Amino acid sequence: MSVLLLAAAMVMVQGAAGAQNVRFKKYFTGGTLRLDCSREGNAQGDTVWVSRWLDRSAEWHGSREVLVDPFDNGDYRVEMRDAKSGKVIYSKGYSNLFREYKGTAKGRKVKARFEETLLLPMPKRKVLIALQRRDDNMQLVDQTVVPFDPDEQELDFNYHIGQRTDLELHGAPEDKVDVAIVAQGYNGMSDPQLRVDYYRMKEILFGQEPFKSHRDDFNVYGVKADVDAEFGTFGIDRYLMTFSLWKLHDALGTTPCDYIIIMVNDERYGGGAIYNFYAVASMHRLAEYVLPHEFGHAFGGLADEYVDEDLAYGNLHINDYEPLEPNITNLKDFGRKWKTMLPSGTKVPTPDNVDVPKNECGPLGVYEGAGYAYKGVYRPTMHCMMRDYAPFCPVCTKRLEEVFSMYAK
Ligand SMILES: [Zn+2]
Ligand SMILES: [Zn+2]
Repeated sequence: MSVLLLAAAMVMVQGAAGAQNVRFKKYFTGGTLRLDCSREGNAQGDTVWVSRWLDRSAEWHGSREVLVDPFDNGDYRVEMRDAKSGKVIYSKGYSNLFREYKGTAKGRKVKARFEETLLLPMPKRKVLIALQRRDDNMQLVDQTVVPFDPDEQELDFNYHIGQRTDLELHGAPEDKVDVAIVAQGYNGMSDPQLRVDYYRMKEILFGQEPFKSHRDDFNVYGVKADVDAEFGTFGIDRYLMTFSLWKLHDALGTTPCDYIIIMVNDERYGGGAIYNFYAVASMHRLAEYVLPHEFGHAFGGLADEYVDEDLAYGNLHINDYEPLEPNITNLKDFGRKWKTMLPSGTKVPTPDNVDVPKNECGPLGVYEGAGYAYKGVYRPTMHCMMRDYAPFCPVCTKRLEEVFSMYAK
């Protein structure tokens, strides 16, 4: 592969787990609670705590119908429970840069602190907020549980709000997938240049299926603010990320943001993406080509389908547990994956002696070589955006559409 993206594939997905119905009006005010959290540790372990409690002073932009995350997805999950009944009234899975830090030479020994910002629907009465992580069996367990009583907890307010522009709106935030493009490095630049780049980023987002035909399900906002994204994350030149999550959310202010794309005004190639955390992209000449792959990570929690055993986490998916990402399998529990989508008579594994043009996915099957590993991990098609910048395969497309439909109505 000519351009390898070191995006965070560190996402854990499995099939939709029964979503519960939670009546929004019964439990929530319609406002937004913001928690700025700290996660500190190394490969030996970590702790997480709430550092700042804030009122985002904005309407809840997420879905008011799907409040419990239907995907068992991400390294972490935040869960809000009604204090009286114990009922889970909101949850969301996500990942963090910390997962990759743990895999670095430094991260094996030296503790470091990482920021997380969680946006939650403001509860009407006392709740318990559980910050969950994966245990050794990939199960979600409580890591920290903090009570929150809206009548007692003092809340700070957002500040340092960046300069916001509505780029393309199709409806109320609660009914749409809200994407905030944060423009870094445009101070002192002319406004026409910023407008050109906003437009370019927006067209990249909607340039590829299934984003293209779901355009009306999205709202897109621009926010001009410098948020410390830098090349060289974890010593990798083209890995362009930011550690300053709190500053990023300060800049976003009240902007609705189910997803965040940091657009960096730099022509050098760089980027990265973490599931339900953010995506970063420089305005490189190949952006149109490589960014949809990053959006696959950030929006869909999709795994890389390519092979690269030099990566530190190359054997990530070869273990006793079926990987949680929907688009790869180690056949430990394939029934949870795309088994039902296979044409009858498909051989598992599927021989890869088919000749498929590079810009097509080819027939659905179970092809060996995925998730960085040559052996023992399988992918749905010969080519895919998550492997080699072909269109998204049917399995990846299905998950992306499920995610969109969770936010949009
Ligand atoms: Zn990737
Ligand atoms: Zn795929």
